[in-house]
Amino acid sequence: LNCLHWFRRDLRLQDNPALSYATFIANQCQTHACAIYIISPEDMKLHDDAPIKIDFWMRNLKCLQQELDKLNIPLVIKTVPKRRDIPQVLLDFCDQHGISELTINHEYEVDEDARDKKVQRLFESKGKHVHGFHEQCVIQPGKLMTQSNKPYTVFTPFKRAWLSLVEVHKISPGQFADLQLAPKLEANDVKVRDSNSSFHTLFTDKSLTTIPDSVPGFEMPADLQKTAHQMYPAGEADAHSRLDNFVRDKVKLYDKKRSLPGEPYTSTLSPHFASGIISSRQCLQAAVKANNGKLSSGSDGIQSWIQEIIWRDFYRHVLVHYPKVCKNQPFRDEGNNIQWATYNEDEENEAFFAWCEGRTGYPIIDAGMRQMNATGWMHNRLRMATAMFLSKDLLINWQRGERYFMQCLIDGDLASNNGGWQWAASTGTDAQRYFRIFNPMLQSEKFDKSGDYIRRWVPELKTIRGPAIHDPYHVLDRKAFEALNYPKPMVDHKFGRDRALQAYKAAMHAG
Ligand code: FAD
Repeated sequence: LNCLHWFRRDLRLQDNPALSYATFIANQCQTHACAIYIISPEDMKLHDDAPIKIDFWMRNLKCLQQELDKLNIPLVIKTVPKRRDIPQVLLDFCDQHGISELTINHEYEVDEDARDKKVQRLFESKGKHVHGFHEQCVIQPGKLMTQSNKPYTVFTPFKRAWLSLVEVHKISPGQFADLQLAPKLEANDVKVRDSNSSFHTLFTDKSLTTIPDSVPGFEMPADLQKTAHQMYPAGEADAHSRLDNFVRDKVKLYDKKRSLPGEPYTSTLSPHFASGIISSRQCLQAAVKANNGKLSSGSDGIQSWIQEIIWRDFYRHVLVHYPKVCKNQPFRDEGNNIQWATYNEDEENEAFFAWCEGRTGYPIIDAGMRQMNATGWMHNRLRMATAMFLSKDLLINWQRGERYFMQCLIDGDLASNNGGWQWAASTGTDAQRYFRIFNPMLQSEKFDKSGDYIRRWVPELKTIRGPAIHDPYHVLDRKAFEALNYPKPMVDHKFGRDRALQAYKAAMHAG
């Protein structure tokens, strides 16, 4: 009855229900527990995982391995070149080490879910067991349905139902088991037994436990790596001190400042959420505690931050109920009818790469894209604005942008990225219609009034003072503009807006 926990995007020790269960079985049955992480370069390629994210995974695995060591749980690393081989590799490993129980935390994406079902079938056919747990959301997908037992497709009623379910649990703790944190793991939790068994090679054989610094094909440029290591130190402890600092110093101002990209008033915990280094329940608990136990009243800042955790749950629930969003399909079928701008291929590539590299001639858009290229992270306000610029002003298929974001982001996450892109491109769940089109200049004046954020990321504009920072091409005289060596706007906003409105109107009313 040796037990194996298979880590995926749950790279933490605490509040990890599947890992806790593995240690529980090992203790109850007086057997061993070990853990495995499978590096699957084919999955990484197919899912457009960014090198900066993979580097973050590797660094976090090293911290996790040290912490697991204290519990007497060895962490084995295996690279499996073909993803279809994963179930058999797992089974062979279990056979070799007398393991009959496998624990996992569910992953909801279509490919991952199919892989897990295959693993389960294979294990069961050999008399072994797979124990699955839900830990990605505060409320498990499927547990929050409308009165007519349908999935929610609009955020506001989902939020209302979410808050009342969580409130019920707060009033009568234990009523709603999902909210309980998994049992805490302590040093020497698992006993080391039977030092003659093959199991013990897992503690000593370096070839089984070495975590690579990088995965071939996903190496990072040195300057980006240096930035990532400074901005995002690895480990659960760092994630928790980030959470503590945010809750202590910033969350109460979150409602007022969260939209200002130049001010550090968001938690920057998204890389940790996306890799499972911290759980949404842990964050919710910290927020509620700082709000004197209140969930839907008290500090506006805290309520507003809790709302973001609800958005995260919402997009995961949507992904589970509408798996088509994992398969390159818009949530709204009308999204398939949009006639994207008729560029020839070279023109489209040129426009797309100008957007990717932050050379659109719209300072706020360029600042956002350059922040992401330089750090692997972009402020939410700019994610919305840049995504809308691509899908509306440039009328380029949002799916190209969605992929590019995944290839760059340290927090790249299918559910949130796809949800955000479909929101911006008006093909998603949102009740608002296609006529919401941000004006980049107004976004800039409103959310980066001083222009400091732009000056930071677009050095060509760093000498500009005053309102010209938001629209140098139209405000400065020609000579002064040319001296900047900064591109003129690649598309006129009014033209782009009208073109998008026409294309979207035709698509949404077609058929
Ligand atoms: P905070 O403002 O501190 O929010 C706390 C947490 O709540 C975040 O860490 C995140 O886990 C969650 N959250 C916040 N906003 C959202 C949201 N709108 N949707 C879902 N969850 C949210 N987020 C990702 O984690 N990965 C992505 O790949 C991703 N791609 C996006 C693409 C687009 C086009 C858009 C518009 C948004 C995207 N988001 C994505 C959501 C959001 O921009 C980031 O989660 C947020 O900017 C992360 O910063 P933070 O950790 O400081 O967030």
